[in-house]
Amino acid sequence: MENLIERAARDLLNSRYAIALTGAGMSTESGIPDFRGPSGIWTKNPEAERKAYRSYETFLHDPRKWWEERLTGPNLLGDLAGAAPNAGHRALVELEKAGILKCVITQNIDGLHEKAGTSKLLEYHGSVLKLRCIHCTLRFRPHEFDLKKLMSEGKLPPRCPYCQGIVKTDTVAFGESIPQDVADMSLEEVWKCDLMLICGTSAVVYPFANLPRIARQSRYEDHWKAEAGLGAVASSPSVKIIEINGEPTPLTAEGISDYIITGKTGEILPQIVEAVKKLKK
Ligand code: NAD
Repeated sequence: MENLIERAARDLLNSRYAIALTGAGMSTESGIPDFRGPSGIWTKNPEAERKAYRSYETFLHDPRKWWEERLTGPNLLGDLAGAAPNAGHRALVELEKAGILKCVITQNIDGLHEKAGTSKLLEYHGSVLKLRCIHCTLRFRPHEFDLKKLMSEGKLPPRCPYCQGIVKTDTVAFGESIPQDVADMSLEEVWKCDLMLICGTSAVVYPFANLPRIARQSRYEDHWKAEAGLGAVASSPSVKIIEINGEPTPLTAEGISDYIITGKTGEILPQIVEAVKKLKK
């Protein structure tokens, strides 16, 4: 019987528009802890989770204090600037370069897909490599503001040079809406795709966790309409949803994914790339 790596490679080769959805598990092999895996930050320290939920309230109430804490306090996820992409990130780049993978939508804020060289990338929860105006959503690179100087002069929070809106980190805090541009583009990708490769996410953070469910649901509806003779189907009648995760998730339990390849993304994804190459020969 065909093993799951070969099956995924074959499914990818047969796909018309494959996309990947990624989560914190993708970066644990780069030394960045996840939140809810067996050694996750919140698994080990539930108080850190409660504090994170209050962060956006603090920002809205007192953006200067929020910025000062950011610039002087420790980073919950450690030294993200020093982290490097791993074999899993690079494998997704290879699939993109081969013309198979059309887009990566990530929940990760660590910027590792960008560093690895993924070109069509939607950062659903933002990126530590960017800042964002909360009014007009323009993104900036941190070096475009002298944040330390603004702090010493008592001029925090930084202001958008175009609309004077308050600038915060691009990363989306709990309670903050997903920036409209990224939310809309992600939905479009989900509607277009006929294969979704879901890598290293517990799929419990919403609205991101809705994306696989939307893909599954919209195809059921298309299929049902076609069966009932209610019109032509614009998109493919079925979507393949493949998970790669160290453990089963709600998507596995609810049958949203067609199958799960259990293991590390940094090991499984390169094996899938190799299997794709073999099949293409
Ligand atoms: P999560 O912590 O809720 O779940 C991670 C999942 O990945 C778990 O199911 C775990 O078993 C699995 N996993 C861990 N290491 C793996 C590996 N090497 N290979 C395969 N699977 C592995 O993460 P989430 O679902 O992304 O949700 C957490 C939220 O926190 C996200 O919104 C994200 O923005 C944020 N976050 C980001 C980072 C990051 O940017 N690297 C890190 C932690 C949390």
